Amino acid sequence: MNKIINSSLLAFKEKNIENPELDLRILLKHASYKNEEIILSNINIENININYFKKLLLRRLNNEPISKIINKKSFWKDEFFVNSDVLDPRPETELIIEESLNNINKFKKMNILDFGTGSGCLAISLAKEFPNSKITAIDISKKALNVAKKNIDKNFLNNQIKLEFSNLESITEKFDLIVSNPPYLSFNDYHELQLEVKNHEPKIALLGGKDGLAFYEALANKIEKIMLPNSFLILEIGHTQLDSVRLIFKKTNLILKKVTKDIQNIDRTLTFFKI
Ligand code: GLN
Repeated sequence: MNKIINSSLLAFKEKNIENPELDLRILLKHASYKNEEIILSNINIENININYFKKLLLRRLNNEPISKIINKKSFWKDEFFVNSDVLDPRPETELIIEESLNNINKFKKMNILDFGTGSGCLAISLAKEFPNSKITAIDISKKALNVAKKNIDKNFLNNQIKLEFSNLESITEKFDLIVSNPPYLSFNDYHELQLEVKNHEPKIALLGGKDGLAFYEALANKIEKIMLPNSFLILEIGHTQLDSVRLIFKKTNLILKKVTKDIQNIDRTLTFFKI
């Protein structure tokens, strides 16, 4: 095996990087002049921009996730541009799309709100799955909105998705479907995060106040004013939050229709219905 490959692998292993071979292949491909799949045991090192590769390697050794280094992350049916201004789309958040499709006809003409859109992954995936719907995607991070804009442009969805620098208070419209993966970590959860997340994903997208519940409280206070009759609210929650979030929404007239577990068997999304 080539010397650079060998020493890089060793460095990854010493740092306890979870998937050393896979990560190495991805970084080498990213630094390759040819953009071909890399076979570690049989690599033609002349095809690699070595200086660039070394920079990428150092970033990974500094616990930066692969997605942030190559600026790509897959979610639902697309690949999204990501950087340190947004949370990486996560597989458990795809449950929000699944639940929307389980409950609503694809061709329904809806007014949809994505509260805290981040990279825009939910808004964009919903726009494609519900082609007759209009979507308002809001965020309180201007930097995140720039990323969402990039992803919306890439997918030619400017006519279907309206991006707004806005918080919940300024929303006056009413919606048929509201989705959100709000920041929901408590101070304690936040401090215990793995370095990949803590040092390379935005705090503003993760921290939901001291107890992690601030955004659910805000939603519950406003929600009835912004939901149409026969509408849905589909929310992601943290792994210990089912009882607290259920309690917060008790004061609304929404009906909790379903709790969905993710593949790790964690209660992950709540589907509410407004009559
Ligand atoms: N699931 C994320 C994490 O554990 C948190 C996402 C969020 O706060 N919405 O890193």
